[in-house]
Amino acid sequence: MTPLAKKLVYWYRKNRISYPWRMTRDPYKIWLSEILLQQTRIPVVLKFYEKILNAFPDLISLSKAKDAEFLSLWSGLGYYRRAQSMLHCAREIVQNGAGVFPSDLHELLALPGIGKYTAGAIRNVCYEYLTPAIDGNIRRVLARLAMSHEKLESVFLEVGKGAESGDFFQSLMELGEQICLPKPRCVSCPVQNICKSRKEHRELEFPVKKSKQKSEKFHWYLLLLERKGAHFYAQNSAREFLKHSWIFPDVLSQKNLSPSELCKNFAQSWGIKVRGLKELRTLSHAVTYRKIHAHVLAAESFHVNGVRGKWLKPKDLKNYPTSSITRKSLQVQDR
Ligand code: SF4
Repeated sequence: MTPLAKKLVYWYRKNRISYPWRMTRDPYKIWLSEILLQQTRIPVVLKFYEKILNAFPDLISLSKAKDAEFLSLWSGLGYYRRAQSMLHCAREIVQNGAGVFPSDLHELLALPGIGKYTAGAIRNVCYEYLTPAIDGNIRRVLARLAMSHEKLESVFLEVGKGAESGDFFQSLMELGEQICLPKPRCVSCPVQNICKSRKEHRELEFPVKKSKQKSEKFHWYLLLLERKGAHFYAQNSAREFLKHSWIFPDVLSQKNLSPSELCKNFAQSWGIKVRGLKELRTLSHAVTYRKIHAHVLAAESFHVNGVRGKWLKPKDLKNYPTSSITRKSLQVQDR
């Protein structure tokens, strides 16, 4: 084992935080935790990890889940495409792979929703095959250790040579989460005497910051239709985000639209005839790089016959994947 890996693994075993996914080598649980960790912060992951495992304790049970059942559990996490990919992946492994996650890198990469990082995490932790798995945290640690912006996969393999790959991989993650933060705490770092950038006092120069994606501004018009205490919800597969969420019929536009333009848009894209549109309120919302002005609208009269959707009461919403914008819009109506 290299001196660097030895120190990292020793430090990790003494200092690791006992997350539930650190207590297992079950590929299903490691896969679930990695997908959730790519999605959100650890406190939220803990909640969803437990909730999902209670409902679907293994790959077989997940492969049999109905889409709506799993997506409603996922509700609140966003990026429903990831949840859909998980279902496809579970079904594919159960149908074609005898229900066991493969250990071969190419077979893992061929599965829906599994990229290089997730495949590497599964191979390192569950099968002890040292495999580069580099997310933002690990990139930062490796770049600083090697004082390089390049060939970090080779750095991963060189440093980890001979180490137990599961603990080595997780030691890099843990160091990135606890010590080698964007503002590094080098004085507490177990490898400060070996780290190249620390020796040169250049740790803040690594890794290079990617230029941020320019945020785009949108107007999001949400039509809040009410009938006997229920609201009309629909899925919109033409929208680039939240495609699988049940939200009010909507129109997305880069410019502000007048009531008559909106009536035309709702008729053309949804087949909904509305009259007397009234704006209840605007809300600020953000979805990835999009800054959104959400306009919650009510209509004096409407006609939705033949439009694909559901009338749902607020209590029914827990059974459907939705978005925080839905809850915010309903609060507006309650005022
Ligand atoms: Fe990161 Fe500092 Fe440790 Fe180097 S010495 S790995 S920069 S925390």
